[in-house]
Amino acid sequence: MTTLRPVLRQALKTYEKNRQLRKIAQASALVESRGYMKWTRVEDTIEFARLMNYRKIGIACCIGLKREGAILASILRRNGFQVISTICKTGAVPKEKVGVKDAEKLRPGQFEAMCNPVAQAMLLDACGAELNIMVGLCVGHDALFCRTSKAPVTTLIAKDRVLCHNPVASIYNHQSYYRQRLYDNHLSNIWKSSPSS
Ligand code: SF4
Repeated sequence: MTTLRPVLRQALKTYEKNRQLRKIAQASALVESRGYMKWTRVEDTIEFARLMNYRKIGIACCIGLKREGAILASILRRNGFQVISTICKTGAVPKEKVGVKDAEKLRPGQFEAMCNPVAQAMLLDACGAELNIMVGLCVGHDALFCRTSKAPVTTLIAKDRVLCHNPVASIYNHQSYYRQRLYDNHLSNIWKSSPSS
């Protein structure tokens, strides 16, 4: 029988050995207790950054949410942080560079810049960001950003084009409005095709 106890022990040891992870865990617990039912997520993020003594904050922004990213940047600056931001289309690299076929683009036959979360993470790291905040990066692009960023990453806005960036609405409605889409046709159709290597 497989037991997961060794994994749990290993996780505890990781907190003991890795000071940075332990500090993040402590700061997160403080944000939870001090701000419980009082602070919004933006305030949680500011207080977390303060507890961690971060000075420089990176914003990884989707181009579609650049206004929201700019407002966030001004709030952070007013709270004493230095802010660096990058937009997802940075570098203006054609999608074909990562193997997307012309027919698979939003508008076949036209130039389309790929979203470049790997470059976003590298640029923010190169500028010395100590904490990166994702603003509207979509599914997959957010995974690439988290995987590449050396600085810790937190999400402020999760992209959901249909639900005004409130993805939990489909979970709350999984037995009602979204039942058929979530459990029946929709996903099985998507799983029929996967990206080529
Ligand atoms: S692909 Fe994602 S990250 Fe890029 S512009 Fe569109 S929504 Fe923004």
